[in-house]
Amino acid sequence: MRPNNKIDLQKIYAQLPQVDKFLNTNEIQELLKLYPRGLLVDQIRIQLDKLRTQIVQMNDEQLLSFELDQTQIISEIGREIEYALRPKVKRVINATGIVLHTGLGRAPLSKQAQQALGEATEGYASVEIELETGKRGDRHQLVEDLLIKLTGAEAAAVVNNNAAATLLTLNTLSDGKETIISRGELITIGGSFRIPEIMKKSGAQMVEVGTTNQTELWEYEQEINEASGLLLKVHTSNYRIIGFVSDVSLEELVELGRKYNIPVMHDLGSGMLFDLSRYGLPKEPVVSESVRLGADVVTFSGDKLLGGPQAGIIVGKKKYIDQIKKNQLARALRCGKLTFAALEATLRLFLDKEKLLEHHPVLRFMVRKESEIEQKALELKEKLSPIIGDRGEVIIEKGLSEVGGGSLATESLPTWLVLICMRKLYPEELGKRLRLSDPSIITRIVHNRIAFDFRTIREDEIELIAQALSKILNEE
Ligand SMILES: *Cc1c(COP(=O)(O)O)cnc(C)c1O
Repeated sequence: MRPNNKIDLQKIYAQLPQVDKFLNTNEIQELLKLYPRGLLVDQIRIQLDKLRTQIVQMNDEQLLSFELDQTQIISEIGREIEYALRPKVKRVINATGIVLHTGLGRAPLSKQAQQALGEATEGYASVEIELETGKRGDRHQLVEDLLIKLTGAEAAAVVNNNAAATLLTLNTLSDGKETIISRGELITIGGSFRIPEIMKKSGAQMVEVGTTNQTELWEYEQEINEASGLLLKVHTSNYRIIGFVSDVSLEELVELGRKYNIPVMHDLGSGMLFDLSRYGLPKEPVVSESVRLGADVVTFSGDKLLGGPQAGIIVGKKKYIDQIKKNQLARALRCGKLTFAALEATLRLFLDKEKLLEHHPVLRFMVRKESEIEQKALELKEKLSPIIGDRGEVIIEKGLSEVGGGSLATESLPTWLVLICMRKLYPEELGKRLRLSDPSIITRIVHNRIAFDFRTIREDEIELIAQALSKILNEE
């Protein structure tokens, strides 16, 4: 029972300052020098509302002892505003060891691509203009010559991502017609890209042949009729079946396509511009090889192993690429100047294979030697030991990193981990505080410890990690 409830509440409400009174306090005046007035007023209202809600829920005892803590409210206002104004897209230190982490924006760009972005965003940019004639140009041509040179294809186009490249190609070549695909290649990528769904959206009628583990050429041939629009081969980039397995090679499909005059599309997913085994890495399909074997259209991502911005690259026979460029959907899926600037700079790196590794962060992380990784891990361990002291433990250990991004999915690369466990801080809580550091540090948890995987940590980030940890532990 609360006989005096009403009176109590009125009295307490009366204690709450008006917005104007808040604005006149010295603390808020200081904040007004930093933040827009409108935001501060909104935030003061929000905090006062929150307080009223709390008061309504208080019992008599709490109500009697209630005292307004203005300093606390003001510091809360400051914190909330700072939080609201903090950019959401922030630099992140990737300590997960996953080289192509979709949650962290996939490929880290080269210095050259970063410079190109700076150049393209300084003012206006040459996106659809032929500088020699002053005439309206075609934005695909910004990178088309480079792509032709690097893949051996006749023509090229660029769209928003490889999902868009697949959708657009299917729609252009097979809308209202049938696309024949092996049941072993009906893949899902990253939860939201599914071949059957994309096919449906494109207007192509999917005709499945074979089984999950066995598909033969005659099964494709049996389904060919006047309604056939396309033969599709998809690289099963993020899984592998082993055992009693056989599929139809691209060469065989190309031969079949020629026989019936039906185009063949090869979706490579990641795709690479040369054979990675030159660096001792497992082989990922090479774009120029699919082109050489006669695929009419080949699609791949700009931000997987290529190491560029998010983009979908379509290369192939000029006849088909021209149709693709003319499709109305191409307009809806097109890229902007930022993408073209970064993609052009990334592709240029591949013209000089000798210097490629030096400039290309994705490849550099992938080929990093175990001994180099171990040395960097030791460096961090040495820095952290005195910071952690007897509050916890830091050790280094061998581990495995993934390439990620649906590339080389069945391979993992040997690495070294720095593992931390704190006596008074759960790994989940420490992981959260590292994420909320500036810059954010994203880690994994291995054997119930926070793990820093040195495959993807840059030299200059070691000191930043040590500083962040020191700050976190001193706040304890
Ligand atoms: C990754 C992938 C895609 C999707 O590419 P995005 O660039 O992520 O849109 C499509 N097909 C295959 C085989 C892939 O590996």
